[in-house]
Amino acid sequence: MSTLFHKIIRREIPADIVFEDEHLIAFRDIAPQAPVHVLFVPKDTFATLNDVPADRPEVIGRLAVAAANYAKAQGFDEDGYRIVMNCNGDGGQTVFQVHLHLLAGAPLGRFGTPA
Ligand code: AMP
Repeated sequence: MSTLFHKIIRREIPADIVFEDEHLIAFRDIAPQAPVHVLFVPKDTFATLNDVPADRPEVIGRLAVAAANYAKAQGFDEDGYRIVMNCNGDGGQTVFQVHLHLLAGAPLGRFGTPA
């Protein structure tokens, strides 16, 4: 599979990368929905959260811990933030490589109401 995010991982298209290790990459969302909006993407390929096997929970855990570490490093961990994973159509997923959104930098509105 080769999504937009795989191309960012391979440096085939540019992105504002804020963190990378052997497991994941994090870069700023091109259309931010909050003052801070960073995407955390595993380097292993899984189209959606549904595709992450039961014996690979670390794939998702690493994304969440990397997001918390980024919040601490940037100094907004105590103010707070939101992490979100969209899955398939009703969840609003548009890029089919699993990823976690980190939103922060201002009080965030409520969520979960039908579009
Ligand atoms: P989702 O809708 O959950 O699949 O999230 C996909 C996100 O990718 C959206 O918030 C887009 O704004 C973001 N996005 C799309 N293209 C790029 C890009 N080239 N660089 C950074 N973020 C992007």
